[in-house]
This record gives sequence, C-alpha cells and structure tokens, in this order.
Amino acid sequence: TEANKGTARFAEGEQIPVTGYGTAQRKTMPKPLYTEATLLAAMETCGRNITDEKAKEAMKELGIGTPATRAAIITTLFKRDYIERSGKALVPTEKGLYIYEAVKDMQVANVELTGSWEKTLLQIEQHTLETRSFMHSIESFTSQVTREVLGLKFPAPKQHSLPCPKCGTGKVMIRPKVAKCDNLDCGLLVFRKVLNKELNEQHLEQLFSSGATKLIKGFKGKKGNSFDAAVAFDDEFNVTLAFPDKKRGKKR
Ligand SMILES: [Zn+2]
Repeated sequence: TEANKGTARFAEGEQIPVTGYGTAQRKTMPKPLYTEATLLAAMETCGRNITDEKAKEAMKELGIGTPATRAAIITTLFKRDYIERSGKALVPTEKGLYIYEAVKDMQVANVELTGSWEKTLLQIEQHTLETRSFMHSIESFTSQVTREVLGLKFPAPKQHSLPCPKCGTGKVMIRPKVAKCDNLDCGLLVFRKVLNKELNEQHLEQLFSSGATKLIKGFKGKKGNSFDAAVAFDDEFNVTLAFPDKKRGKKR
C-alpha cells in the first residue's frame, strides 16, 4: 500500500543480503589544554572530585589556593618554567612534566589533603579535636613529605656543549636561557633570546661553529616591523644581527 512505501519489511527467518559495510574511523580527542581562565576555574572546583564526603564538604568553597593566591600560583608556574604559553593555551614544559611525573603519587600532590586539614581545623574549632594532635600529624606529614622530596632522583640534565670559538679551549655549555663558556678566563656568554626570537640548538651550533647563524625569519623590530636576519659574532664575540648582503655571490 501507499503507506508501506519506503519501509523495509522482513519476515522471520528471511535472509537479507548485506550490501555495504565498513569501519568508521573516529579519533579520541585529548583533553583540551588549559587556558589561564580554565585553569583558574579548575583550581577553584577541583575539590568536587574528592571522595571523602567530609573532606569534600570542607573543600567545597576552597579548591586549590584562595581567590587571592590562585593567579599568583600560576605566575609561579611560569617563573619556574613549569608551563609556557602557546597562544592562549598553557603548555607544560619538559621540566614541568618531569616534576609532575616525579611527585604525582606523593603526599605533597594530594588534593584531598587540604580538604582533610580543613576538616581537622573545623574539629578544633568545635573542640572535638586537640590542637596538639593536629600539630603532631602535621609534623609527621612534614617529615614524610621532606623525606619523599629529598629522596627524588633526578637524572643529570642533558648537557650539550660546543667547542668555544673565542678561547679555543673551553666548552660552551648550552643552558635554557644562555650559552656560556666553561672557561672562566674566557667568559663568552650568549643570551639565547635575541629580540623576540629564541635561538634554538641548531642556531647556536651554527653560531659557535661558523660565527653566524643561517638567516632567521620573523624578527620583530621595536616598531613592530618584521624582518629577517642572521645572528652573528662581531670581532669581539658580541652578538650582532647580520643582514643578508644581496650583492654577495653575484660576482661581476
Ligand atoms: Zn671560551
């Protein structure tokens, strides 16, 4: 009939040929990176996942830090190179991830702890717990945390070094913010940040082996103008910008 048009009808036991199949490709998406705003919100509400009901109650209004200190905590993460900005996103640095892996299972990283302390302070306020017994538990906590942290074993950071072009005997040690000759009499020091650009290890290798980097694109001048330049040593091993000489290579 007209009403059945377009509707499949099967009888029991009937065999239906399958005319098409395939696998659907879906990707699981990683959690988006925090921005400063979402991290602040997460710090404020992190107590909500706590399982201990009383600690949860005590933490309800708390989260990590207080409204007055949360922004400062994030600033500290920047200062200590645990996170960096990529656009609006906050990206953990290698150092940050390392610390996270090292302490994530330790007491010092336990969010519930703040909650349990708040709970205990409430008990003291209500005279159901003695101050002395709280202090005793704080003392044992402190010694446990200190022991855990002091027991951390960090591998020596990867140290790249290059022969020093200035003194010829020292090694130039590449550190996060500077490259520095280990010969104290030489004292060659290069800051890795030049204007808005950070010299990567390749740049440094070029600079220390040949006296200049290849052309680096996208320097920003003081007026916001963008230009390309090489970073080079002058005769006294001061860092200067060198501009491509258009005539070079065209011999007449
Ligand atoms: Zn040197």
